[in-house]
Amino acid sequence: MSISRISPDVHFESLFAENPQGVGASDCAGNLVAVNDALCAMSGYAREELLGRHLRSFAPEEGAQIVERSLTETMLGRSLTFDFNAIHRSGAVTEVFVTTLPMYRDHVVDGIYFIFQDLSDRKAAKRLIAEQAQELHDRNRGFRSLFQQNPDGVLALDCDGTILDVNDACLRIGNYPRDAVVGRSYKDFLAGAEIARTSSFFERGLAGESVSSEIGSASIDGQPRTCVATMIPQFSDGRVVGIYAVIQDITQRKKDQLRVETQSQRIRELYLMATSGNYSDSHVMTTLMMGCRLLRMDVAAIIDYTPDRPVVEARFEVDSSGSDDGIELLALAQAVLDSREVGGARYGAVIGEVLTVAGERYGVLLFASRQGRGTEIEETDRDLVALMAALLGGALERRRARADLRTLAYFDTLTGLPNRVMFQERVRDAIENAQSQFCRVAVLFFDLDRFKDINDTLGHAHGDHLLQLVANRLLSVVGDQATVARTGGDEFIVLLPDCDGMESIRVVAERLLHAIDDPYQLDDYEQFITASIGIAVYPEDGKTDLALIKNADIAMYRAKDRGRNAYQFYTPTLEAPIQMRLSQEKLLRRALELDEFRVYYQPEVRLSSGAVVGLEALVRWHHPKSGIIYPGQFIPSAEISGLIVQLGDWVLRTAARQTHEWHKHIPGLRLAVNLSARQFHQPDLRSRIAQALEQADFDPSHLELEITETVAMSEAAQTVAIMRDLKESGMHIAVDDFGTGYSSLSYLRHFPLDVLKIDQSFVAGIGTEPNDETIVKTVIAMAHSLGLEVVAEGVETQAQFDFLREHDCDRAQGYFISAAVPADAADAFLTASAQGLRS
Ligand code: C2E
Ligand code: MG
Ligand code: MG
Repeated sequence: MSISRISPDVHFESLFAENPQGVGASDCAGNLVAVNDALCAMSGYAREELLGRHLRSFAPEEGAQIVERSLTETMLGRSLTFDFNAIHRSGAVTEVFVTTLPMYRDHVVDGIYFIFQDLSDRKAAKRLIAEQAQELHDRNRGFRSLFQQNPDGVLALDCDGTILDVNDACLRIGNYPRDAVVGRSYKDFLAGAEIARTSSFFERGLAGESVSSEIGSASIDGQPRTCVATMIPQFSDGRVVGIYAVIQDITQRKKDQLRVETQSQRIRELYLMATSGNYSDSHVMTTLMMGCRLLRMDVAAIIDYTPDRPVVEARFEVDSSGSDDGIELLALAQAVLDSREVGGARYGAVIGEVLTVAGERYGVLLFASRQGRGTEIEETDRDLVALMAALLGGALERRRARADLRTLAYFDTLTGLPNRVMFQERVRDAIENAQSQFCRVAVLFFDLDRFKDINDTLGHAHGDHLLQLVANRLLSVVGDQATVARTGGDEFIVLLPDCDGMESIRVVAERLLHAIDDPYQLDDYEQFITASIGIAVYPEDGKTDLALIKNADIAMYRAKDRGRNAYQFYTPTLEAPIQMRLSQEKLLRRALELDEFRVYYQPEVRLSSGAVVGLEALVRWHHPKSGIIYPGQFIPSAEISGLIVQLGDWVLRTAARQTHEWHKHIPGLRLAVNLSARQFHQPDLRSRIAQALEQADFDPSHLELEITETVAMSEAAQTVAIMRDLKESGMHIAVDDFGTGYSSLSYLRHFPLDVLKIDQSFVAGIGTEPNDETIVKTVIAMAHSLGLEVVAEGVETQAQFDFLREHDCDRAQGYFISAAVPADAADAFLTASAQGLRS
């Protein structure tokens, strides 16, 4: 390709050939097709050597990419300029400024022009300009003083970036001596990464623009400084001859800014912490610690300012060596609450804020610095403390809520006593301790006797109140070492963690029973209640908490079986009766089928005449192998299984039939039959009784139904209805075992009763226990005043018999007259008695 082909205009030939700058033309691939003399001179190559060479071959390795890119761009029709380190034939590198131009043929790019300008010339020109600037600068004295006295640092730079002059303020920024600065390039004072960026600003300055930029530098001892540099171009005759760089040290400002940022970061952390669910005590401490750091304080405290009993609830100290007793902190908190000027002997700056929890004043959040530390308080600090107080308030509230939850999880809400979960934990701890201390651990399982009846008759409010009273009494007996827990309705459980022997446990058990059976005042009612206690002891009766509790429970059932108001130590054989109950049910059913039950009769005599006026039917089990089994052994399981209903029917039928026979000799003889709770609440009770009596041809008016106090008092309204119903048929109703329950005579008034049977335990005291005598006398008198007939049970001696007669008791029953005997023996007794009366 010849140049004439590219440009037909001959004038351009000379522009190409004579151009003082190096000019070349390449084909589309970048291979030189034409070069002028100047280019040959610049590159050091002969024309022949240049032609056909690719432009790339003039570029050092790192410049190849620039060349390629410029080719591509230019082929797309764009003109480019770029700096380029070209390699001279000698190997020396010359900085050249390259301009590319697309070469068109028939509107299609067909090649590229390159114009190379040697930059070393321009640099020489710049140096000249700088010298002129220096002159100008030197000439201008007024300007110079402005330069020197400027509070900001000012540098005078030539167009190459060489520092020509520097003011004192600038030297102070980096603590450099003047000599170390003047004559050096500004780049020498920049952090490595900053150089390229700052250079581009500098270039823009040279281009006449005034620009600012943040730069990272370092003082002479290597301390990093952050500055803002403003490049101000210096003009002379319309040309830029140098740059003034105004330098402001913003290192401190940056630090402050960073502090503000970390502060807000900390506030965010505080917030997150405060709003997160598990805000523990250690979080509160962290908050105090962080507050100290942010505010440059030495002590932080949360003061619970309950007026009579203020306490430092939490405290953090930066250096706790000089720790005080907190009294001064309390005084500071008081001052904060009173909005007084705060200050103290020990502390200098103080900030405080009232803490509110759940809308109520809780106390004070306090920060203080030690005297002489010179900490100053800024307005933003107060805001920060206010914020912390708000967050802590929320956190404390949640902590309180969690404490409430803990209370719910570990305590009984009614009595405030620990619950079973906590009790078990305490037992485990006690066992662990006992292992190393070689002591015993006792678990006492309590059940209030007949508590259900109190609830049913007096209502739940009274029942609850009674439980609280019982809880207090238990606590007062056992002392601090022990744990009293409520594990269920009327169940309490006591842990004696450190016992030396069985005797000491026995003493506590007795004291507990005693404490419980004192009367309770419930509004107008005086209530009596007893408890049954089962005791299991580590290590004998169990090695784990669960085993001890279970065995104490078993022992408690035995205590109940044995007549309540008693305690019972666990023994392995105790488990037997419970197992037995289940199999007993089967045995009882079979015994009923096999007709192994017998009715025994115990006579009742009228005290005034000594005549037999009645008989109580008492059931016995004639076991083919075991002999006679007494009702105490099987009535409870018959009751539980429900079999008592059938058994009761059978007893009534049998006794009625038998008594009907005796009526032939002793007309009007009364038959007393026991009714258990289960029987009494049978919906068809009346028709069942009526049926049994009909079958025996027995007149209902000769029947007396014995129900216990407990049965009589349960579900009062219903009980009254049932009694009325029975009485309509002419039957009589007696309350059995009077005095063992908790009923009072005045309460019994509400029931349509006919007869009251004083429990044998009171009768047993006649002649020995003045108290019992008083009770018996009073009961007789009061029962009479209520129109009730009185029967004394368990009369065993003449003295008892006489006492009862003396005090107008109506009837007597007991071994002194006769034990319960089989029908034939009763028959003989009745005949003899009838004859005795007749004679
Ligand atoms: P309870 O109705 O209070 O019967 C009186 C108990 O005292 C009887 O015991 C009787 O044998 C006993 N006893 C009589 N006189 C004396 C005495 O002078 N001294 C002493 N220490 N005890 C005396 P038992 O027969 O063992 O009956 C116990 C309980 O079993 C009865 O107490 C009654 O509640 C219940 N029971 C007995 N038979 C039946 C029945 O057929 N049906 C129902 N539902 N319960 C029955
Ligand atoms: Mg009875
Ligand atoms: Mg009785």
